[in-house]
Amino acid sequence: MTLRGTNQESGRPFNRRIVLESIRLHGPTTRGDIAARVGLTVQTVSTIVRELEEQGLTLSVREEPKGRGIPPSKLTINPEGGHAVGIHLTPLGIEAALVNLRGDVVESRRRDASNPTPDEAFTLIRDMVSELKASPLRGRLLGAGLALPGPFDVESMSFVGPTTMTGWKNVDILQRLAAATDLPVFIENDMAAAALGEQLYGFGQQFSDYYYLFFSVGLGGAMLNDGVVMRGAWGNAGEIGHIPAIPDGEPCPCGNRGCLERYLSLDAYRRRGLTEAEWVCEVAPMFRHAIRTIENLFDPQTVVIGGLAPQSLIDQLATLVDGLDNSVSARANRTSPRVVAARDCQHSALRGAAALAVYGILSPRYGQMFET
Ligand SMILES: [Zn+2]
Repeated sequence: MTLRGTNQESGRPFNRRIVLESIRLHGPTTRGDIAARVGLTVQTVSTIVRELEEQGLTLSVREEPKGRGIPPSKLTINPEGGHAVGIHLTPLGIEAALVNLRGDVVESRRRDASNPTPDEAFTLIRDMVSELKASPLRGRLLGAGLALPGPFDVESMSFVGPTTMTGWKNVDILQRLAAATDLPVFIENDMAAAALGEQLYGFGQQFSDYYYLFFSVGLGGAMLNDGVVMRGAWGNAGEIGHIPAIPDGEPCPCGNRGCLERYLSLDAYRRRGLTEAEWVCEVAPMFRHAIRTIENLFDPQTVVIGGLAPQSLIDQLATLVDGLDNSVSARANRTSPRVVAARDCQHSALRGAAALAVYGILSPRYGQMFET
Protein backbone atom coordinates (compact mmCIF):
# COMPACT_ATOMS: atom_id res chain seq x y z
CA MET A 1 0.00 0.00 0.00
CA THR A 2 1.51 3.30 -1.05
CA LEU A 3 -1.26 5.87 -0.65
CA ARG A 4 0.36 9.22 0.04
CA GLY A 5 -0.92 12.12 2.08
CA THR A 6 -1.22 15.70 0.95
CA ASN A 7 0.01 18.80 2.74
CA GLN A 8 -2.80 20.97 1.40
CA GLU A 9 -5.37 22.07 3.96
CA SER A 10 -8.17 20.84 1.68
CA GLY A 11 -6.59 17.40 1.89
CA ARG A 12 -7.31 16.85 5.60
CA PRO A 13 -10.26 14.47 5.20
CA PHE A 14 -8.19 12.51 2.70
CA ASN A 15 -5.28 12.42 5.14
CA ARG A 16 -7.54 11.09 7.92
CA ARG A 17 -8.69 8.40 5.58
CA ILE A 18 -5.23 7.29 4.50
CA VAL A 19 -3.89 7.35 8.07
CA LEU A 20 -6.82 5.15 9.13
CA GLU A 21 -6.22 2.91 6.13
CA SER A 22 -2.51 2.64 6.95
CA ILE A 23 -3.35 1.62 10.54
CA ARG A 24 -5.90 -0.87 9.25
CA LEU A 25 -3.46 -2.44 6.80
CA HIS A 26 -0.27 -2.31 8.87
CA GLY A 27 -1.32 -2.10 12.53
CA PRO A 28 -0.03 -2.40 15.15
CA THR A 29 2.16 0.37 13.80
CA THR A 30 3.87 3.51 15.12
CA ARG A 31 3.20 7.14 14.23
CA GLY A 32 6.69 7.33 12.73
CA ASP A 33 6.10 4.33 10.47
CA ILE A 34 2.75 5.71 9.33
CA ALA A 35 4.36 9.08 8.55
CA ALA A 36 7.06 7.41 6.47
CA ARG A 37 4.52 5.28 4.67
CA VAL A 38 2.05 7.99 3.70
CA GLY A 39 4.49 10.89 3.26
CA LEU A 40 3.19 13.17 6.02
CA THR A 41 5.09 14.66 8.94
CA VAL A 42 5.01 12.81 12.26
CA GLN A 43 3.35 15.88 13.75
CA THR A 44 0.51 15.80 11.20
CA VAL A 45 0.05 12.08 11.74
CA SER A 46 -0.01 12.57 15.52
CA THR A 47 -2.73 15.23 15.19
CA ILE A 48 -4.84 12.94 13.02
CA VAL A 49 -4.26 9.96 15.33
CA ARG A 50 -5.45 12.04 18.29
CA GLU A 51 -8.69 12.78 16.39
CA LEU A 52 -9.14 9.14 15.43
CA GLU A 53 -8.58 8.06 19.04
CA GLU A 54 -11.04 10.64 20.34
CA GLN A 55 -13.57 9.26 17.88
CA GLY A 56 -12.88 5.76 19.20
CA LEU A 57 -11.76 4.50 15.80
CA THR A 58 -8.22 3.52 16.81
CA LEU A 59 -6.48 2.25 19.95
CA SER A 60 -2.99 2.70 21.35
CA VAL A 61 -1.20 -0.39 22.57
CA ARG A 62 2.15 -0.40 24.32
CA GLU A 63 4.29 -3.49 24.07
CA GLU A 64 6.20 -4.87 27.05
CA PRO A 65 9.68 -3.32 27.16
CA LYS A 66 12.21 -5.85 25.94
CA GLY A 67 15.36 -4.04 26.96
CA ARG A 68 16.15 -0.57 28.10
CA GLY A 69 13.81 2.29 27.26
CA ILE A 70 10.11 2.37 26.67
CA PRO A 71 8.98 1.17 23.22
CA PRO A 72 6.82 3.68 21.32
CA SER A 73 3.10 3.03 21.57
CA LYS A 74 1.56 1.35 18.55
CA LEU A 75 -1.77 1.99 16.93
CA THR A 76 -4.41 -0.48 15.87
CA ILE A 77 -7.91 -0.24 14.53
CA ASN A 78 -10.50 -0.44 17.29
CA PRO A 79 -12.66 -3.17 15.77
CA GLU A 80 -15.57 -2.30 18.02
CA GLY A 81 -15.14 1.45 17.53
CA GLY A 82 -18.20 1.40 15.36
CA HIS A 83 -20.17 -0.58 12.85
CA ALA A 84 -21.25 0.31 9.37
CA VAL A 85 -24.07 -1.27 7.43
CA GLY A 86 -22.92 -2.63 4.09
CA ILE A 87 -25.64 -3.35 1.55
CA HIS A 88 -25.19 -5.13 -1.76
CA LEU A 89 -27.98 -4.91 -4.28
CA THR A 90 -27.76 -7.40 -7.14
CA PRO A 91 -30.13 -8.65 -9.84
CA LEU A 92 -30.49 -11.84 -7.73
CA GLY A 93 -31.18 -10.41 -4.32
CA ILE A 94 -30.05 -8.08 -1.57
CA GLU A 95 -27.56 -8.64 1.22
CA ALA A 96 -27.05 -6.41 4.21
CA ALA A 97 -24.52 -6.78 7.00
CA LEU A 98 -23.18 -5.16 10.12
CA VAL A 99 -19.46 -4.79 9.52
CA ASN A 100 -17.03 -3.74 12.22
CA LEU A 101 -14.03 -1.48 11.64
CA ARG A 102 -11.74 -4.46 11.06
CA GLY A 103 -13.99 -5.59 8.22
CA ASP A 104 -15.50 -8.54 10.06
CA VAL A 105 -19.07 -9.31 9.04
CA VAL A 106 -20.70 -9.37 12.49
CA GLU A 107 -24.22 -10.19 11.41
CA SER A 108 -25.86 -10.44 8.01
CA ARG A 109 -29.18 -10.78 6.26
CA ARG A 110 -30.11 -11.86 2.77
CA ARG A 111 -33.32 -11.66 0.77
CA ASP A 112 -33.74 -13.31 -2.60
CA ALA A 113 -35.35 -10.97 -5.10
CA SER A 114 -35.11 -11.35 -8.84
CA ASN A 115 -34.52 -7.97 -10.49
CA PRO A 116 -36.20 -6.02 -7.66
CA THR A 117 -37.85 -2.72 -8.50
CA PRO A 118 -36.75 0.29 -6.43
CA ASP A 119 -39.92 0.03 -4.29
CA GLU A 120 -39.31 -3.67 -3.60
CA ALA A 121 -35.61 -3.16 -2.95
CA PHE A 122 -35.97 -0.29 -0.52
CA THR A 123 -38.72 -2.09 1.39
CA LEU A 124 -36.40 -5.07 1.84
CA ILE A 125 -33.49 -2.79 2.75
CA ARG A 126 -35.60 -1.01 5.36
CA ASP A 127 -36.56 -4.39 6.91
CA MET A 128 -33.05 -5.76 6.96
CA VAL A 129 -31.49 -2.58 8.33
CA SER A 130 -34.04 -2.37 11.12
CA GLU A 131 -33.26 -6.00 12.03
CA LEU A 132 -29.54 -5.24 12.05
CA LYS A 133 -30.12 -2.13 14.16
CA ALA A 134 -31.90 -4.30 16.72
CA SER A 135 -29.00 -6.75 16.92
CA PRO A 136 -27.43 -7.11 20.37
CA LEU A 137 -24.05 -7.20 18.58
CA ARG A 138 -24.47 -3.72 17.18
CA GLY A 139 -22.20 -0.91 18.34
CA ARG A 140 -22.24 2.74 17.33
CA LEU A 141 -23.59 2.92 13.78
CA LEU A 142 -21.52 5.12 11.50
CA GLY A 143 -23.59 4.94 8.35
CA ALA A 144 -24.73 2.77 5.49
CA GLY A 145 -23.09 2.11 2.15
CA LEU A 146 -24.87 0.61 -0.84
CA ALA A 147 -23.12 -1.21 -3.69
CA LEU A 148 -25.21 -1.67 -6.81
CA PRO A 149 -24.62 -2.71 -10.39
CA GLY A 150 -23.16 -0.22 -12.84
CA PRO A 151 -22.53 1.27 -15.26
CA PHE A 152 -23.94 4.49 -13.87
CA ASP A 153 -25.53 7.25 -15.85
CA VAL A 154 -24.88 6.04 -19.34
CA GLU A 155 -28.16 6.88 -21.07
CA SER A 156 -28.19 4.02 -23.51
CA MET A 157 -26.36 1.47 -21.39
CA SER A 158 -27.52 1.83 -17.85
CA PHE A 159 -29.70 -0.84 -16.35
CA VAL A 160 -30.56 -2.74 -19.50
CA GLY A 161 -30.87 -6.43 -20.14
CA PRO A 162 -30.54 -9.51 -18.00
CA THR A 163 -27.21 -8.55 -16.49
CA THR A 164 -28.33 -5.31 -14.90
CA MET A 165 -31.59 -4.11 -13.47
CA THR A 166 -34.59 -2.50 -15.06
CA GLY A 167 -36.70 0.29 -13.63
CA TRP A 168 -33.84 2.05 -11.86
CA LYS A 169 -33.45 4.94 -14.22
CA ASN A 170 -33.90 8.41 -12.72
CA VAL A 171 -34.26 7.05 -9.19
CA ASP A 172 -32.80 9.26 -6.45
CA ILE A 173 -30.99 6.35 -4.86
CA LEU A 174 -29.24 8.34 -2.12
CA GLN A 175 -32.47 9.93 -0.99
CA ARG A 176 -34.34 6.60 -1.00
CA LEU A 177 -31.49 4.94 0.89
CA ALA A 178 -31.41 7.68 3.51
CA ALA A 179 -35.17 7.34 4.03
CA ALA A 180 -34.94 3.55 4.33
CA THR A 181 -32.01 3.48 6.76
CA ASP A 182 -32.18 6.77 8.67
CA LEU A 183 -28.36 6.84 8.55
CA PRO A 184 -25.71 8.85 6.68
CA VAL A 185 -25.59 7.09 3.31
CA PHE A 186 -23.11 6.45 0.52
CA ILE A 187 -23.36 4.62 -2.80
CA GLU A 188 -20.87 3.05 -5.19
CA ASN A 189 -21.01 0.72 -8.17
CA ASP A 190 -20.50 -2.88 -7.14
CA MET A 191 -17.22 -3.38 -9.01
CA ALA A 192 -15.56 -0.43 -7.32
CA ALA A 193 -17.04 -1.41 -3.93
CA ALA A 194 -15.76 -4.97 -4.29
CA ALA A 195 -12.35 -3.68 -5.33
CA LEU A 196 -12.30 -1.41 -2.28
CA GLY A 197 -13.36 -4.29 -0.02
CA GLU A 198 -10.60 -6.42 -1.46
CA GLN A 199 -8.12 -3.56 -1.08
CA LEU A 200 -8.88 -3.16 2.61
CA TYR A 201 -9.52 -6.70 3.71
CA GLY A 202 -7.98 -8.98 1.12
CA PHE A 203 -5.16 -8.76 -1.38
CA GLY A 204 -4.67 -5.06 -0.70
CA GLN A 205 -2.14 -6.05 1.93
CA GLN A 206 -0.11 -7.76 -0.78
CA PHE A 207 -0.73 -5.68 -3.93
CA SER A 208 -1.19 -1.98 -4.65
CA ASP A 209 -1.71 -2.20 -8.43
CA TYR A 210 -4.12 -4.86 -9.54
CA TYR A 211 -7.18 -5.34 -11.64
CA TYR A 212 -10.23 -6.71 -9.82
CA LEU A 213 -12.30 -8.77 -12.25
CA PHE A 214 -15.87 -8.71 -10.98
CA PHE A 215 -17.48 -11.92 -12.15
CA SER A 216 -21.15 -11.36 -11.53
CA VAL A 217 -24.41 -11.78 -13.43
CA GLY A 218 -22.54 -9.59 -15.90
CA LEU A 219 -18.81 -9.01 -16.09
CA GLY A 220 -17.12 -5.89 -14.80
CA GLY A 221 -14.01 -4.85 -13.02
CA ALA A 222 -11.90 -2.05 -11.67
CA MET A 223 -8.21 -1.20 -11.71
CA LEU A 224 -6.62 -0.36 -8.37
CA ASN A 225 -3.86 2.08 -9.18
CA ASP A 226 -1.55 2.72 -6.25
CA GLY A 227 -4.31 1.45 -3.96
CA VAL A 228 -6.96 3.75 -5.41
CA VAL A 229 -9.80 2.70 -7.72
CA MET A 230 -9.29 4.23 -11.18
CA ARG A 231 -12.67 5.78 -11.77
CA GLY A 232 -12.57 7.35 -15.21
CA ALA A 233 -14.43 10.59 -15.90
CA TRP A 234 -17.84 9.16 -14.86
CA GLY A 235 -16.90 6.29 -12.57
CA ASN A 236 -17.24 3.56 -15.19
CA ALA A 237 -13.59 2.81 -15.99
CA GLY A 238 -12.79 -0.88 -16.19
CA GLU A 239 -16.26 -1.88 -17.44
CA ILE A 240 -14.82 -4.77 -19.36
CA GLY A 241 -18.06 -6.69 -19.98
CA HIS A 242 -18.94 -4.64 -23.05
CA ILE A 243 -15.60 -4.70 -24.83
CA PRO A 244 -15.91 -6.40 -28.22
CA ALA A 245 -14.91 -10.06 -28.07
CA ILE A 246 -16.48 -11.66 -31.17
CA PRO A 247 -17.09 -9.57 -34.33
CA ASP A 248 -20.79 -9.87 -35.24
CA GLY A 249 -21.28 -12.18 -32.29
CA GLU A 250 -24.32 -12.52 -30.04
CA PRO A 251 -26.47 -9.43 -29.69
CA CYS A 252 -26.06 -7.65 -26.36
CA PRO A 253 -28.70 -5.51 -24.61
CA CYS A 254 -26.26 -2.59 -24.89
CA GLY A 255 -27.03 -2.51 -28.61
CA ASN A 256 -23.73 -3.97 -29.81
CA ARG A 257 -22.84 -7.49 -30.82
CA GLY A 258 -20.29 -9.89 -29.45
CA CYS A 259 -19.66 -8.21 -26.07
CA LEU A 260 -17.42 -10.18 -23.73
CA GLU A 261 -20.06 -10.67 -21.03
CA ARG A 262 -22.37 -12.42 -23.49
CA TYR A 263 -19.87 -15.28 -23.22
CA LEU A 264 -18.08 -14.76 -19.94
CA SER A 265 -20.38 -14.07 -16.99
CA LEU A 266 -22.70 -15.83 -14.58
CA ASP A 267 -25.56 -15.08 -16.97
CA ALA A 268 -23.65 -16.72 -19.85
CA TYR A 269 -22.80 -19.72 -17.68
CA ARG A 270 -26.44 -20.25 -16.72
CA ARG A 271 -27.72 -19.88 -20.27
CA ARG A 272 -25.21 -22.47 -21.48
CA GLY A 273 -26.48 -25.19 -19.11
CA LEU A 274 -23.12 -26.97 -18.70
CA THR A 275 -21.39 -28.18 -15.54
CA GLU A 276 -18.86 -25.77 -14.05
CA ALA A 277 -15.92 -27.82 -15.31
CA GLU A 278 -17.32 -28.19 -18.84
CA TRP A 279 -18.11 -24.51 -19.07
CA VAL A 280 -14.73 -23.35 -17.75
CA CYS A 281 -13.08 -25.60 -20.34
CA GLU A 282 -15.24 -24.10 -23.09
CA VAL A 283 -14.62 -20.46 -22.17
CA ALA A 284 -10.91 -20.90 -21.42
CA PRO A 285 -9.70 -19.24 -24.69
CA MET A 286 -12.12 -16.31 -24.20
CA PHE A 287 -11.04 -15.93 -20.57
CA ARG A 288 -7.36 -15.94 -21.50
CA HIS A 289 -7.99 -13.28 -24.17
CA ALA A 290 -9.72 -11.15 -21.54
CA ILE A 291 -6.77 -11.48 -19.17
CA ARG A 292 -4.34 -10.61 -21.96
CA THR A 293 -6.41 -7.49 -22.77
CA ILE A 294 -6.51 -6.40 -19.14
CA GLU A 295 -2.80 -6.96 -18.65
CA ASN A 296 -1.79 -5.05 -21.77
CA LEU A 297 -4.10 -2.16 -20.88
CA PHE A 298 -3.26 -1.77 -17.20
CA ASP A 299 0.05 -3.56 -16.49
CA PRO A 300 -1.24 -4.86 -13.13
CA GLN A 301 0.73 -6.82 -10.53
CA THR A 302 -2.00 -9.44 -10.79
CA VAL A 303 -5.64 -9.92 -11.74
CA VAL A 304 -7.88 -10.82 -8.80
CA ILE A 305 -11.09 -12.65 -9.73
CA GLY A 306 -14.07 -12.21 -7.46
CA GLY A 307 -17.74 -11.31 -7.67
CA LEU A 308 -21.03 -13.06 -7.17
CA ALA A 309 -20.13 -16.36 -8.80
CA PRO A 310 -19.82 -19.39 -6.49
CA GLN A 311 -16.34 -19.71 -5.01
CA SER A 312 -15.90 -23.07 -6.80
CA LEU A 313 -16.40 -21.42 -10.20
CA ILE A 314 -14.05 -18.54 -9.33
CA ASP A 315 -11.41 -21.05 -8.18
CA GLN A 316 -11.71 -23.03 -11.42
CA LEU A 317 -11.40 -19.91 -13.57
CA ALA A 318 -8.25 -19.02 -11.63
CA THR A 319 -6.69 -22.35 -12.63
CA LEU A 320 -6.73 -21.11 -16.25
CA VAL A 321 -3.66 -19.06 -15.27
CA ASP A 322 -1.69 -22.04 -16.58
CA GLY A 323 -1.63 -21.51 -20.32
CA LEU A 324 -2.13 -17.75 -20.41
CA ASP A 325 -1.06 -15.96 -23.59
CA ASN A 326 1.99 -13.75 -23.79
CA SER A 327 1.47 -10.16 -22.57
CA VAL A 328 3.37 -7.38 -20.80
CA SER A 329 2.66 -9.33 -17.59
CA ALA A 330 4.40 -12.52 -18.70
CA ARG A 331 7.68 -11.51 -17.11
CA ALA A 332 10.19 -13.99 -15.83
CA ASN A 333 10.79 -12.22 -12.52
CA ARG A 334 7.20 -12.43 -11.30
CA THR A 335 6.72 -13.19 -7.61
CA SER A 336 2.95 -13.70 -7.80
CA PRO A 337 0.64 -15.53 -10.21
CA ARG A 338 -0.89 -13.49 -13.05
CA VAL A 339 -4.38 -14.47 -11.87
CA VAL A 340 -5.53 -15.17 -8.31
CA ALA A 341 -8.94 -16.04 -6.88
CA ALA A 342 -10.30 -13.64 -4.28
CA ARG A 343 -10.85 -15.24 -0.90
CA ASP A 344 -14.32 -14.84 0.51
CA CYS A 345 -15.22 -12.97 -2.68
CA GLN A 346 -18.93 -13.07 -1.88
CA HIS A 347 -18.42 -10.53 0.87
CA SER A 348 -16.07 -8.12 -0.91
CA ALA A 349 -18.76 -5.75 -2.16
CA LEU A 350 -20.54 -5.78 1.23
CA ARG A 351 -17.33 -4.92 3.03
CA GLY A 352 -16.45 -2.29 0.46
CA ALA A 353 -19.91 -0.75 0.84
CA ALA A 354 -19.46 -0.64 4.60
CA ALA A 355 -16.01 0.92 4.16
CA LEU A 356 -17.60 3.70 2.10
CA ALA A 357 -19.63 4.66 5.13
CA VAL A 358 -16.59 4.57 7.43
CA TYR A 359 -14.62 6.83 5.09
CA GLY A 360 -17.56 9.07 4.36
CA ILE A 361 -18.00 9.64 8.05
CA LEU A 362 -14.42 10.89 8.34
CA SER A 363 -15.23 13.77 6.02
CA PRO A 364 -16.04 17.16 7.57
CA ARG A 365 -19.70 16.93 6.59
CA TYR A 366 -20.26 14.40 9.38
CA GLY A 367 -17.31 15.31 11.57
CA GLN A 368 -19.49 17.02 14.13
CA MET A 369 -21.08 13.67 15.03
CA PHE A 370 -18.03 12.76 17.03
CA GLU A 371 -17.12 16.04 18.66
CA THR A 372 -16.87 15.67 22.39
ZN1 LIG B 1 -22.73 -5.09 -24.56
